[in-house]
Amino acid sequence: MNSKILGYLVGVNVRMTDFLGKHPLLVEKVLRRIANLPLSRKYLKVIVRAFMGATAFDCHLVDVEKGRVNFSGVEEIIMPAVMVKIQRQVLAEILGEEEAEKAFYEMGYEGMYREMSYGIGEGRWIPGFSASLINETGSADKFRSDPSLGRMIEESTALMLRLIAMEGGWGNVASNILEEPIKVTVKNSPEARWLGPSDKPVCHMFAGVSAGNTSFINGVKYRARETSCMAMGAPCCVFELEKESA
Ligand SMILES: [Zn+2]
Repeated sequence: MNSKILGYLVGVNVRMTDFLGKHPLLVEKVLRRIANLPLSRKYLKVIVRAFMGATAFDCHLVDVEKGRVNFSGVEEIIMPAVMVKIQRQVLAEILGEEEAEKAFYEMGYEGMYREMSYGIGEGRWIPGFSASLINETGSADKFRSDPSLGRMIEESTALMLRLIAMEGGWGNVASNILEEPIKVTVKNSPEARWLGPSDKPVCHMFAGVSAGNTSFINGVKYRARETSCMAMGAPCCVFELEKESA
């Protein structure tokens, strides 16, 4: 896409974000209803509907007859949170504690990265113009050098975190994706709640999730390390992300 048109679309997105931020009632009472009309469900990308106030549950299509749940082109299953504990215990019994932690990290990383590739990379969740701006070498530098683009990436990341993580039961998540080092914080991580209390961080799957998410957006592989954990009594879990050397 022509860079002038791209810049214009980014500018419109930022102005709309500012406007809607000042008018929460318009979002709640009017736009969310429009976002949930049958035509909007059919034709609008999920991030546009979320921008208009739709929640993750507004965006899940449940086919009772087939017993299937579809989140804007991505099939999902809903599991009880205790599965986090059961999976970790079973893996630790088979592989040992250290290998179970590594397995959880890798499952989190691969799960998130592949979900993003499928949902975003293949155009199911976000409009083509914004998909073309992420997941390239040098993406992070572009976000940091262009204030409007940076703002759009920050807002879009927050929207996707709301839809996937917060409304998916993974805790209250925030990321400072434009800063260095990148930090992700989580309040009420299910791993901390189900695997704690502990004298060391326990959120290995979420560490992988945060690295997978950031790696996809910035187009370069990151590794995440949990530096404080609610399971240890900290007020929230904090993950620091570093680029992996090639
Ligand atoms: Zn934690």
